[in-house]
Amino acid sequence: MIEPAIPVSAWSPAEIVELANSTDEREWVPTAREGVWIRPLLFDTVRGAWVNVTRMRTTGFISRHAHPAPVHGYVIKGQWHYLERDWVATEGGYVFEPPGDTHTLIADPGESLTLFWITGCLIEVDEFGTPTGFADVFTRIEQAAKHYEAVGLGADYVNRFVR
Ligand code: FE
Repeated sequence: MIEPAIPVSAWSPAEIVELANSTDEREWVPTAREGVWIRPLLFDTVRGAWVNVTRMRTTGFISRHAHPAPVHGYVIKGQWHYLERDWVATEGGYVFEPPGDTHTLIADPGESLTLFWITGCLIEVDEFGTPTGFADVFTRIEQAAKHYEAVGLGADYVNRFVR
């Protein structure tokens, strides 16, 4: 191993190097919507944000939600769209969801994989825009920990993604 010329600060959190499209099925956290999984990459507890790959192997309605804070997305594979928009997020595409955005995610046929960097929280809403639930970095950590416990990796497995 080569000694680094510039020492890394002892205060710097540990880096994360993970395969986005994990081949270990246990790392994919199932969601309330059948045919949709979340693969955690980073749970940022200081900024209040998280990065995950969303895998959809179903077609049609997935989720209607509002974002009070920005979201960045990159489509690794496949495609999907928002009911309220006339564009389609396609393979290789970048999507910026600005603060204040509300949309209904629709899965198009075929498997899709999208890397999302979600800040703040995601507020689930009904067809009238009334909040029905929410997700933030902490609910996502709890959801993942519970899943990893259930598949035998142990709840502590989630720590590899927590900073
Ligand atoms: Fe969204």
